[in-house]
Order: sequence, then C-alpha cells, then structure tokens
Amino acid sequence: MLTIEHIASGSAGNAILVDDGESSLLFDAGLSYNQLRKRLLSKGYLLSDLSGILITHEHNDHCKAVEALLMTGRSVYMSRGTAEAKAYMPSMYKQLTSMKEYEIGSFNVKPLDVFHDAAEPMGFLFVSKNRPVKGVYIADTSEIPYKFNGVTHWIIECNYAEDILERNTHNEILKQRIRKSHMSFEGLKLFFQQMKEEGGLSETKQITLVHLSDSNSNEAKFIKELQQLTGVPVYAPRN
Ligand SMILES: [Zn+2]
Ligand SMILES: [Zn+2]
Repeated sequence: MLTIEHIASGSAGNAILVDDGESSLLFDAGLSYNQLRKRLLSKGYLLSDLSGILITHEHNDHCKAVEALLMTGRSVYMSRGTAEAKAYMPSMYKQLTSMKEYEIGSFNVKPLDVFHDAAEPMGFLFVSKNRPVKGVYIADTSEIPYKFNGVTHWIIECNYAEDILERNTHNEILKQRIRKSHMSFEGLKLFFQQMKEEGGLSETKQITLVHLSDSNSNEAKFIKELQQLTGVPVYAPRN
C-alpha cells in the first residue's frame, strides 16, 4: 500500500508526499514554508515526520520552501547542480548523483536524469523495502527515455496538449521552450503505450498526473484517454 498526498500541484507550486506506512518522503517543496507546514498538518503530517525531502530542480515552483527547510535542519536531497544554482551551502543539503541508490527511511531511491531547462534536474524511482511498492516521480521533463518494469505507482508530469498549446500560444519562442522542457499529453500517451506493449504496466495500480498547465491542459480528456489506454485509475489533483 502506498498513500499519496497531494500537497500542491501545478505551475504555481509542486509538492507530493508518499507514505508506505512506515516512512514518508516529500517530493518537491514549491510552496512557502508556512503553507507547506499547514498543508502537511492538514493531512496529518509534521515536517519532522518526513524521512527525506527530495527536490527535482531549482525552479521556484519546486523549491520555494527549501531554504527554510535547510535552515531548520531538515534532510533535503538534491543534485549538486540544483544546489549550486541556488547557492545552497554544501554542508546543508544531501547530494544526489543520478543512477546511484540511496536508502531514505524505508525506501530505496534512485535519481534519474531528466530533460528540462535547469542545471541538473532529476526524477526519482522509489522502492519500498517492506511493501510491494515501486514508484516513479517525474516532474518537469520533455522526455522519459527509460524503460521500467513492475512500477505500481506513477506520479508523472502531463503539462500540455499539443493542439491547445498551438491554439493558445502565439509566441514561438515560448512554445519551443515549453516543448523542450515539459511533458506533453501526446508524449506521455506514447510512453505509456510503449510501456503497455512491453508489459511494463502489469503491476501498475494507479497513475497520478502532476504539473498540468493552467492554460494548456485538458484534465478530463487526459484522465479519460490515459485510463482507456492503461486500464488503471488515473488522477490529476490540483491545488
Ligand atoms: Zn521547472
Ligand atoms: Zn515546474
């Protein structure tokens, strides 16, 4: 069993908590420290309950609370590139290297390189040591060039639909930037199609879509079509 708590999702801020019943991890902290503390509390968690806070990259919608978290002595994990981009002191954070494995609470976590306009952005594969849980958290990325098997829970960006972006955005430079740094609905569909054909969805229990664009996404369509394609429940929380 895995509990997934949506603390914040979208371009205004991202933070998501996973709890395997033994320990909990927070992925991203893109809201103010006070908001984060309050929203965690409303779900029954204290910051001191978290075994680790893992940050994908230096953009504010993912790391707004990080400075305060570091100052209060929390265990915050990130790549060296992310920390350097924010000038965090090396002694204050825990450095992650992609493709290495880290034991954090009852989880083994493996950072993955992702593709985004940031210094050293990462996604995370997390496996519970004691429960049948294997999860993927991938926020801002334009591509997922990895093969996975046995994943039970996907938490993954679905930022925009190509036709809506084309219709809404007339600034070519901005459009290119979005395409190069965020996951499209079409790209994600293709990814899950391939996963399905290769048997990579056989253990999947649920898919959570995160980081939907306010203006360029269609939540109902994303959920319906991905549910049809994968045959598992798809959620797209927003707050
Ligand atoms: Zn970003
Ligand atoms: Zn973002």
